[in-house]
Order: sequence, then C-alpha cells, then structure tokens
Amino acid sequence: MAEKIVIIGSGPAGWTCAIYAGRANLKPVLYEGSFGHDSIPMGQLALTHEVENFPGFPGGIQGPDLMLAMREQAERVGTRVVTEVILEADLSQRPFRLKDSAGNTIETETVVIASGAVANYLGLPSEEKFKNHGVSACAVCDGALPRFRGKPVVVVGGGDSACEEATHLAKFASIVYLVYRKDRGGMRASPIMADRVLANPKIKPIWHSVVDEVLGDDEHGMTGVRVKHVKTGETQTVEAKGMFVAIGHTPNTKFLNGQVQTNKEGFIVLKDSARTLTSVEGVFAAGDVADPLYKQAITAAAMGCKAALDAERFIETQETHVPQPMKQQWE
Ligand code: NDP
Repeated sequence: MAEKIVIIGSGPAGWTCAIYAGRANLKPVLYEGSFGHDSIPMGQLALTHEVENFPGFPGGIQGPDLMLAMREQAERVGTRVVTEVILEADLSQRPFRLKDSAGNTIETETVVIASGAVANYLGLPSEEKFKNHGVSACAVCDGALPRFRGKPVVVVGGGDSACEEATHLAKFASIVYLVYRKDRGGMRASPIMADRVLANPKIKPIWHSVVDEVLGDDEHGMTGVRVKHVKTGETQTVEAKGMFVAIGHTPNTKFLNGQVQTNKEGFIVLKDSARTLTSVEGVFAAGDVADPLYKQAITAAAMGCKAALDAERFIETQETHVPQPMKQQWE
C-alpha cells in the first residue's frame, strides 16, 4: 500500500515536516541520505559548528546536535527514517513512485521535497582545508563568531548575497574586503544593494580579482588570502581571519529530472510564495531547495511545517473526493 507522505531530505525543513506529519498521524517516511556533494545526511547544518541564531538556544547549539534533536523528535512521533537517497522519481501519476539508492521503490500519495541546496565554493584545496576555521558560505550564520570580531574578513562575489554578507559583516569586522572578478559595472547585485555596500566606509572592494589561495596554518586557522588580478595576473596577499564565499547555491533537484517546475538556477518554483505547492499536484517543497532568498534554518523549518499542513490538507481533500486525473496544481 502506498505511503501517505514521503519526505526527501533531512535538514530543518525535512525534520520539521516529519514532526508535523507524524503528529497528524500520517506515518511519514523520511529519506535522510545526503543530496549534496558533501555526502553526509542532515543537510548544511551537519557541517556547521556553532548555531547562534536558532531560537530557543541562548548559548547557541552545534549544528549536528540541533539536527539530531530534530531527528529524535521526528522519530518519537512515528517517522520512519530511511538512510538512503532518492535517485529517481516518477511523478507522472499518483501514487508517486520513488526509487532509492538501495534499489527499493516506494509509492506515496504525497511527496515533500526538502533536499536542500549546497553553497557553491571556489573549489580550492586550501579553501576546503579552512572550512569552519575561517572559511564559510554564510555570514548570517557565522559572522558574529568571536574569531571575526574586530578582524579583517573577505567576501567573494558580486551578487546580492555578497552585498548582504559584506554589509552584515561590516557590523562586526574591522574591515571587509569585497573580492569580485569584475567591477561595479558588472555586479549582479541590485543597484541599491551595491550602492549601499560601496558607500560603507568599512567595505573595500578589490575589483577584477579572484582568490586563488586561502592562507593559514593548523594553529591559527585562516590568516589571509592570495588575490590574483584577472587582467594583469598580479597577486597580493590580503590579511583576513575569514573568507565568506557568496557565489550562489546549487539546489539539489537533479533527481526530479525536470518533472517539477524550477527557475533557471534549479530552485523549485512555488505556486504561491506563502505556501509550499509546486507545479505537480501532491508534491510540495520546503527549505533551501525552494528558497534562493532567505536560506536560514529557521525559515526552512517554517516551510517544513507548512509543507506538512499543505500535504495533510491535500490528502484529506483526496479522501473526500472522487479521484481526479493528474493536473498541474496552478491550473
Ligand atoms: P548570484 O548568482 O546573483 O551572484 C553570484 C555572484 O558570484 C556573481 O557576482 C558571480 O560573478 C560570482 N561568482 C559566481 N561564480 C564565481 C566563481 N567561481 N568565482 C568568483 N565569483 C563567482 O547569487 P546570489 O547568491 O548573490 O543571489 C541569488 C539570488 O538571491 C539572486 O536572485 C539575488 O537577487 C537573491 N538575493 C536577494 C537578496 C535580497 O534581496 N535581500 C539577498 C541575497 C540574495 P559574475 O557576476 O561575474 O557572474
């Protein structure tokens, strides 16, 4: 018999969805395999040390601990957790059919896609080495940590995220170097965000430049970056305690094989930004996979809650109505 709800993904969106669906007696099944290229379950928080901005933890909490607590809570209300990845989905008819990495197929009335997104990095081995020791992709999460307070930091990128991160970091850091491979004219950021950044006396742009090496050692963590001018090839060393990479995110939507509408970056498009309905009836999306804007644990959790309520309502409607042929949810 088909499941009522299968949740794909094990970050804050997935677990919150499971907690609500469990309490609604939907007997949720949650796939917690990793969808990112870091190959571990429990989403981006599994890679985050200190989480200081999730309400309820005045002293902060370690990212993996927060995820394990959510997992335990979800299991306690009846969630069946499967440590596999969904590799293929057939969403052309209900019940939907999902194939996992163990070769099993599961049928379900509703699907919640909470498979997250992975922050893009530059791909340097030295960058990898100093992740969590100075290198981060989230200034809102990490910027206020003691290691960055009153110290110089670097932001890489020229989009709205880079501007937002630089502005946020300028509140804590002594100076923020914005390293961008073009100049003001090439910035993708909205003009108002770019102007605000450039008017901030604590933010210093380094134009036409890329970071080609993160510098540091085991004792001190990151101590600076080597920056290369893309036109002249000249390099300079910039002292910095942190590097915040803001060059976009890649949502984990490949396994959907185009069956759910996404934007050009691959983020799932929601029918109504206040809800979690996707272009396929019975398929819902929550968290970073459908959120290129906020990308926070707390906003992902809120979307997970909404997805469970949306799925519950959908199931109730199906049970009280004669089955309809498949149709797009926004028709
Ligand atoms: P964007 O795709 O808009 O910008 C990415 C930036 O990173 C670009 O400047 C790009 O350079 C640069 N970049 C990409 N790859 C590399 C690389 N390998 N090396 C160096 N630089 C690189 O991503 P964002 O995350 O900034 O924004 C995503 C979406 O979210 C946008 O729609 C944005 O408007 C929105 N957003 C809105 C906010 C708000 O309104 N408050 C806040 C944050 C995001 P190049 O320009 O040369 O291609």
